[in-house]
Amino acid sequence: MSEITHRSKTRKVRVGDLTIGGSNEVIIQSMTTTKTHDVEATVAEIHRLEEAGCQIVRVACPDERAADALADIKKQINIPLVADIHFDYKLALKAIEAGVDKIRINPGNIGRKEKVEAVVNAAKAKGVPIRIGVNAGSLERKILEKYGYPTADGMVESALHHIKILEDLDFHDIIVSMKASDVNLAIEAYEKAAKAFDYPLHLGITESGTLFSGTIKSSAGLGAILSKGIGNTLRISLSADPVEEIKVARELLKSFGLASNIPTLISCPTCGRIEIDLISIANEVEEYLQTIKAPIKVSVLGCAVNGPGEAREADIGIAGARGEGLLFRHGKTVRKVPEETMVEELKKEINILAEEYYAK
Ligand code: SF4
Repeated sequence: MSEITHRSKTRKVRVGDLTIGGSNEVIIQSMTTTKTHDVEATVAEIHRLEEAGCQIVRVACPDERAADALADIKKQINIPLVADIHFDYKLALKAIEAGVDKIRINPGNIGRKEKVEAVVNAAKAKGVPIRIGVNAGSLERKILEKYGYPTADGMVESALHHIKILEDLDFHDIIVSMKASDVNLAIEAYEKAAKAFDYPLHLGITESGTLFSGTIKSSAGLGAILSKGIGNTLRISLSADPVEEIKVARELLKSFGLASNIPTLISCPTCGRIEIDLISIANEVEEYLQTIKAPIKVSVLGCAVNGPGEAREADIGIAGARGEGLLFRHGKTVRKVPEETMVEELKKEINILAEEYYAK
């Protein structure tokens, strides 16, 4: 797939009970939209994200109130928690003390050496990794003056600057992101980063937009990067409910065969031969599949013209016929089902296949 294959050659970094990098799967992340000090709302949102398939969650930690809430949040969730610190080393120390699993902070922004050391020593003592977040929109002035405007080389230089600060303190549990809202810039920056260092890369197209346009922009950019064998974790940034970010991330990883426990829905585009209300059936089945954590292929076709053939690749499928549907398992007809109960029957079959997978 790739001439670079940075992904599998990176260092491995532990984040809570997950390992990022090396031969491990690409991890899906998101960020809460609640005020972090509102523990109840934040935990509720994280639970919705967990349910959707989020594997690591980041919360903003802009002030003391947020930092004070972290321990409480951590106790009530099941996935690793990341505190997003801007530059205040005291908040970073509090977050580490509260038991977060990772912090995002750029060491070059912390200030005096003693402060940087305090954060790094605390992180080291607790085995907490640090994500360096390089952002094209907030590059250091020195780098901007050198390059004139945000460039991929400037972004890599910024990343190396922050990495060196940590390495000089013998700290190597590092993950790096190189976010830009310009897709071409992001692709180039990640490619250059992959050649410059072997720390795992967290992917993102920042400020990518709303659910519709942001999904396309993120998928275009991150798809190009993933296809080059780059990226150990990712977040789709959308101006939308963060649960949508998880849905998009899952679909994107699936497209590249990078997800092992995510079902796939194959549905036809419909045409004049259609015999059933395929669009609503496909949407209902897709919604249902969000709850399944098994790599099942489900096919929903509008008619039986190409049914068995097109459904052969699928584990389970349905093809519409007049007022009824033909249920297929691995390309062979199992039985006919009336249109009204078609979706329910399909869900039952999906559950059986999922149970078989979980039992393996
Ligand atoms: Fe048309 Fe049938 Fe193909 Fe769907 S499966 S596109 S309805 S021929």
